[in-house]
Amino acid sequence: MVESVFDWDDPTTAYFWEAARRGQLVIQRCGACRQYQFYPRLFCLACDSDDIGWVAASGRATVYSQTTVHLRSSPEVDLDSPYVVAVVELEEGPRLLTNLTEKDCLIGSSVQVGWRPRRGQAPVPVFGPVTS
Ligand SMILES: [Zn+2]
Repeated sequence: MVESVFDWDDPTTAYFWEAARRGQLVIQRCGACRQYQFYPRLFCLACDSDDIGWVAASGRATVYSQTTVHLRSSPEVDLDSPYVVAVVELEEGPRLLTNLTEKDCLIGSSVQVGWRPRRGQAPVPVFGPVTS
């Protein structure tokens, strides 16, 4: 049996995964300096404050970088190759490592969040062409 490399019970990320189960993308925002950040942390990267809260992200982003993976590197990667790994820049500013649902989403493309279901776990955010 392969042990997961992820700690899904991490209290720092628990709210993110709760929201994901509702199909809502959330990111952190600092109560002191109002900066957004992702991935979840216990303190603000900009000012070190621990006054960190959660806000709903718009789900809109721009492709910052992307590459197509042709090899299946791990049994934990529940994707058929080829698949697209990307960094997207959320409208709020933070960048997110994710997958693109379409390889035609080139760098600079506008994309929107969707959710890839997983057996027994919260869905993961993925991004694809803007449809609405
Ligand atoms: Zn701050």
